[in-house]
Amino acid sequence: MLSNIRIVLVQTFHPGNIGQTARAMKTMGLSDLVLVNPRRFPDQEASRLAAGAEDVVDAARIVGDLSDAVSDCVQVVGASARLRSQPLPHFDEPETMARSLVELADQDPVALVFGRERFGLTNEEIQQCSHQVSIPANPDYGILNLSQAVQVLSYEVFRAWRQRPESGYQVARPSPGRLPTQAQLDHFHDHLSRVMHASGFLTQPHARTEQQLQALFARAQPNRKELSLLRGLLSSLEQNV
Ligand code: SAH
Repeated sequence: MLSNIRIVLVQTFHPGNIGQTARAMKTMGLSDLVLVNPRRFPDQEASRLAAGAEDVVDAARIVGDLSDAVSDCVQVVGASARLRSQPLPHFDEPETMARSLVELADQDPVALVFGRERFGLTNEEIQQCSHQVSIPANPDYGILNLSQAVQVLSYEVFRAWRQRPESGYQVARPSPGRLPTQAQLDHFHDHLSRVMHASGFLTQPHARTEQQLQALFARAQPNRKELSLLRGLLSSLEQNV
């Protein structure tokens, strides 16, 4: 699942961030992690903080240079809290970025690149990206922890993937049942109106009350079965008035 979407961490300082990144990735169905020149790896701290995502940590590949990590990718998105001066295309919304990545990943590898804890990505590294993305955040305090930035963007990727009908991802929900036609609804409201008049609940034409009840049933969206239950109830009341 989502195997063509790669997460690249450049020169990570704290090995714990690699573990937390692996965990963030795995919760969102991602598994391809590439580490560019990490300061310390493999490392116990990375495995400890992976908390069940050690498989992602163990399968991580180490390369010496960003270009080695992304040369086979058709789109490379650099995550940066600050907009750079380079005229690189910029995704204003992570959601748009995620849709684009997911679509391309049908056929080819794509990558999301994250910078160092201390100083992010260098200008040279940004130039090796095809696009940039920032996570909208507090203008006065908008820099996320590395693995949290990975979590947010991975979540967007997962969401974009899930929204595609071909993902086959469906939350198990009971079927809502077939909805009634407009004619069936009209018959129900006529019936309701007859019973309200016959019972003395409405003594004169009260269009407003009827409109309110119509709005109530429109919000409730009863299915055909429920509507026929209500019709049955009205018929039985009718016999007793
Ligand atoms: N001090 C660095 C930021 C390091 S945070 C700087 O000023 O650039 C580590 C990495 O997390 C960043 O390189 C970036 O890839 C990612 N990140 C953090 N906050 C982000 C945000 N708001 N939008 C996009 N990426 C972000």
